[in-house]
Amino acid sequence: MKNDKEMSKDRKRNLIERLNSGPVICAEGFLFEIEKRGYMASGEFVPMVSLEHPKALENLHRDFQHAGSDIVQAFTYNGHREKMRVIGKEKLLEPLNRAALKIAKKVATSPIGKEPNLMAGNISNSNIWNDKDPKTHLEVEKMFSEMVGWAVDEGADMLIGETFYYAEEAYTALKIMKKTGLPSVITIAPMGENIMRDGVSIVDTCKELEQLGGDVVGMNCFRGPNTMMPYIKEVRKALKCHVAALPINFRTTEKHPTFFNLPDNNGCTCHTPHKTPFPTALDPMQCNRYEIGKFAKEAFDLGINYLGVCCGANPMLIREVAEAVGIKVPASKYREDMSTHMLFGTHKRIPKHQRDYMDKA
Ligand SMILES: [Zn+2]
Repeated sequence: MKNDKEMSKDRKRNLIERLNSGPVICAEGFLFEIEKRGYMASGEFVPMVSLEHPKALENLHRDFQHAGSDIVQAFTYNGHREKMRVIGKEKLLEPLNRAALKIAKKVATSPIGKEPNLMAGNISNSNIWNDKDPKTHLEVEKMFSEMVGWAVDEGADMLIGETFYYAEEAYTALKIMKKTGLPSVITIAPMGENIMRDGVSIVDTCKELEQLGGDVVGMNCFRGPNTMMPYIKEVRKALKCHVAALPINFRTTEKHPTFFNLPDNNGCTCHTPHKTPFPTALDPMQCNRYEIGKFAKEAFDLGINYLGVCCGANPMLIREVAEAVGIKVPASKYREDMSTHMLFGTHKRIPKHQRDYMDKA
């Protein structure tokens, strides 16, 4: 017979139990961060990193874990059959998926705290879905089914379907995810018209996803805090299930609700060689950590418990999200402290001639 302490050590709470008792943090945005770290080509955006540089991927997971991510999301975004065909590497599809899932599992089962993290299998926008061509629907169904199958095989604790901009494609993804019996998170990413591409409104899409059994329904990617908040507020009001909010880390505006057409208004003197600052020259339009923290706090106060950051996420921002909703994480040890700064510090050992020089620095 085990005592209580041993029991609680063994017991891993599932996603819903965790959400019922408070906020759950999920770091997304692997594509941008891995590209920035030099292990992926922008534009092509295929997560070959799980096969080519597994240690680099594990490191990013560890960094997010240290910053407070409760969920370790397998990096299989774009790692689907269609994209692998486009780059001529279809035969690496299954090895890529299994490698990414194994790395995520390894990190999730060696947590920093006492309780293991949750490993999430991941499917996402196929980019071949066409609402006017049913043949593509079958194709997408097959792609999702095989990926979900590998995720179950590799011991996923939950599934995430994300970044869908067609309502029907999101419904299809969720139906496949639900068959596994695993807790399923489904998040949509409407583009600049502020409606799904098959004409369904954002709120109606989310309502239908709840009806179809989505355990967590919400929004991720494409939109920064400013252009996600008005919609996620409505979604929260309309739904009874848990809601997810994972904005990108960029200052999108009413005129440019997503990052795809966001112009550079920041005095750029060396323009991107591509049509838009997306995806390689968005740096000056990044939010600061306080904007991300403010979004997380506001969302949490509305009753949204599943929080994170998508494209543009880095460990510092994940820590900011966690702390904004009252969680202390391992990285909190290194939270900013200006009191000892050489110019701005208030510590009594900071020389007066330094403090006095502050305005001229
Ligand atoms: Zn994203």
